[in-house]
Amino acid sequence: MTPTVGYLEERFDTFNDLCFGGALPRIPIKLSSARSFVGRLQYRPVRDWRGRVVRHEDFILRISTRFDLPEAEVEDTLIHEMIHYWIAYNGIRDSSTHGRVFRAKMKEINAQYGRHLTISHKSTPEELDRDTKVSRHYFCVSQLADGRTALTVAASTRVGAIRRAFKWSPSVRNAVWYASSDPWFNRFPRCRTPKLFPVDPAELQAHLADAAPLSFRR
Ligand SMILES: [Zn+2]
Repeated sequence: MTPTVGYLEERFDTFNDLCFGGALPRIPIKLSSARSFVGRLQYRPVRDWRGRVVRHEDFILRISTRFDLPEAEVEDTLIHEMIHYWIAYNGIRDSSTHGRVFRAKMKEINAQYGRHLTISHKSTPEELDRDTKVSRHYFCVSQLADGRTALTVAASTRVGAIRRAFKWSPSVRNAVWYASSDPWFNRFPRCRTPKLFPVDPAELQAHLADAAPLSFRR
């Protein structure tokens, strides 16, 4: 789905009542076309004369419409950013960006409301670049019928099924599969179903240098 501001504002009010006791004041919600994040909370620290942060102001919550995510994932992204907002607004100290407090709140919401919040919807380009965990990625670079380039990072057990789906997809002109351990690919969700994430071909190219093309038996 592609969310609208009105939809996100209504969801914000609902989750505010449900998960945060209605304690979060409304903040501006804006749509973005960024591909580097799905959701992002922006705010400004206010410091005292000694330079210590006393509170945060000027909150803006941005949701990217670049990715065609299922409604539940859009909602989970919104709630994820609302936990960041809840922590910053209340001046709660956490052990890191997604530290103990963040994770405890996330677990509580998941358990109580059957949601699937994760910390992997990383919210800022800085957070994305800080994710340096090395793991093996299997991914597909597709040329789409409309001329765009798309990336799909697949769960290793789903490579075969997603590959077959793309072969029959009218929107995929050409698909090439690779394996790589470059942490840059950590920022993309590991897909279990055929999803296409449009990417900047130039940015992608820089991360294909170390990738090994996958070959398949027919
Ligand atoms: Zn986050």
